[in-house]
Amino acid sequence: MDSRFASEKVIEEFESLTKNAKRVQIETLQKILKENGEAEYLKKWNLDGRFDPQTYSSCVPVVTHKDLEPYIQKIADGASHPVLTGKAITTITLSSGTTQGKPKFVPYNDELTETTMQIYRTSFAFRNREFPIDNGKALSFIYGSKQFTTKGGLLAGTATTNVYRSAQFKKTMRAMQTPCCSPDEVIFGPDFHQSLYCHLLCGLIFHEEIQVISSTFAHSIVHSFRTFELVWEELCSDIRNGVLSAKITVPSIRTAMGKVLTPNPELADKIHRKCLGLTDWNGLIHEVFPNCKYIYGIMTGSMEMYLKKLRHYAGKVRLLSADYGSSEGWIGANVNPNMPPERTTYAVLPNIGYFEFLPLREIDMASRDQDEPDFTFCPVEPKPVGLTDVQIGEEYEVVITNFAGLYRYRLGDVVKVIGFHNATPELQFVCRRNLMLTINIDKNTEKDLQLSVEAAAKLLAAEKLEVVDFTSHVDIASEPGHYVIFWEVSGEASDKVLKECCNCLDKSFVDAGYVSSRKVKAIGPLELRVLRRGTFQKILDHYVGLGSALNQFKTPRCVTPVNHRVLQILCDNVAKSYISTTFG
Ligand code: AMP
Repeated sequence: MDSRFASEKVIEEFESLTKNAKRVQIETLQKILKENGEAEYLKKWNLDGRFDPQTYSSCVPVVTHKDLEPYIQKIADGASHPVLTGKAITTITLSSGTTQGKPKFVPYNDELTETTMQIYRTSFAFRNREFPIDNGKALSFIYGSKQFTTKGGLLAGTATTNVYRSAQFKKTMRAMQTPCCSPDEVIFGPDFHQSLYCHLLCGLIFHEEIQVISSTFAHSIVHSFRTFELVWEELCSDIRNGVLSAKITVPSIRTAMGKVLTPNPELADKIHRKCLGLTDWNGLIHEVFPNCKYIYGIMTGSMEMYLKKLRHYAGKVRLLSADYGSSEGWIGANVNPNMPPERTTYAVLPNIGYFEFLPLREIDMASRDQDEPDFTFCPVEPKPVGLTDVQIGEEYEVVITNFAGLYRYRLGDVVKVIGFHNATPELQFVCRRNLMLTINIDKNTEKDLQLSVEAAAKLLAAEKLEVVDFTSHVDIASEPGHYVIFWEVSGEASDKVLKECCNCLDKSFVDAGYVSSRKVKAIGPLELRVLRRGTFQKILDHYVGLGSALNQFKTPRCVTPVNHRVLQILCDNVAKSYISTTFG
């Protein structure tokens, strides 16, 4: 089918779904509850065949992952009866675990693949209207992570791996006219360093056909081009001689790459020349991939900090943020591709799940448990509102009910309602709710931390240096407790500048609880610990070793003792540290 025509059909369907968002939500809930009425979990709540939202919200409680864990474990252990879903779950998703430190199990089924494709098709249709793709290829930094079988014989892997392995994924990519330029052996290779090298090599071989450069998260795209800076000469030499570098040792990758790599000295010279002509790799993507229409990946939330570097590499190529979802399921599509990435909103698709929203004002943000949101601290039990009842300008935590056995599940993400697309809300991602720096009465979220780092990073920018990555930790080993910020910096900064950065970080946390606690010394001076180069690479390697997929990686922004291995990597790699003198 002509792709323009197909896109218009997808848009038409989306418009109809969103115009009737309220009705579609009621029907979706009904469908989910009917399909899964026989499951042990739903039976427990005595719905007795009543599938309306009122009965649902009065009978079934709002839960966190911890509450569902015993049920998910039963499934993973091979329970023979329906536990969370009517139809047996055969695959388990391993969430990346980079936000909370430990991977979680989440049920996965074909419906989630289908909703993933619906999200992909929807945002593509809107993107394609503005920036049409014409029979090209994509340089996609995507990786299948390790899969294993659970005790009960279920296949377990990351959400993206489950998707990439599905037949629908390839079909959808072909329909979008941007199949991945790398062979499957590269995507599913067992060593991500080797896969990344080969993705870059394929990108160069097909450089004129590349119309899209993408990954799930922006971090992975930046990481890939940082690697390019280190290996470009080796890549050129491989192309010149038609011989793959000896460091690629996986036989299946070598065989697959042998089919695309032939000696091409002209191409090697051309790329070599282009690279040499760049100043500090500025505009690398535009220069090397002249037909690239856009760079695509999630760019909001914790990914915003990589945008500066990505723009630097991109040159004239535009950046478009990908959609909003999680291992637990998708939420919304970016249907306004003209927006700059920082201002991207996500329109919720009302037929991919049943969505509720916990008003944030009513949630006690002082919950101390960093791992799980906790209702017991709430003065008033917050009442979630339905998808079409949210208010513009308000912030909420997302609660999802999906087709794979999650019922009224708190996702832990904070979103802000920016407007409506027909009757469905357009959400802006704010932050992870449970990532919080708190010692006393202070409450600083992931967003507060990001703003503080951005303010201090400006002092480094004046020295032509940048923060490669960052994380934080609450140190309560000594009295009073204090915040520790870990930074990896792109080069050597002077002590004077780093001291100023440390002071700036401390004073940029403007939360009244923090400021007053600092003034009365109930919280000690903030500490900036500067890490050796490559520390965040070690953290990434650690997560990939645990089974996380590189393209789903998100640097943990707050490291708690639960995550002792990461804390140890950080502490073992401190090159210098500074103590704030703000507040005397
Ligand atoms: P995971 O399931 O571990 O791969 O991560 C899912 C989480 O990534 C979500 O719960 C969000 O916190 C974050 N995330 C996903 N999509 C977006 C987006 N478009 N913008 C910001 N953060 C996102």
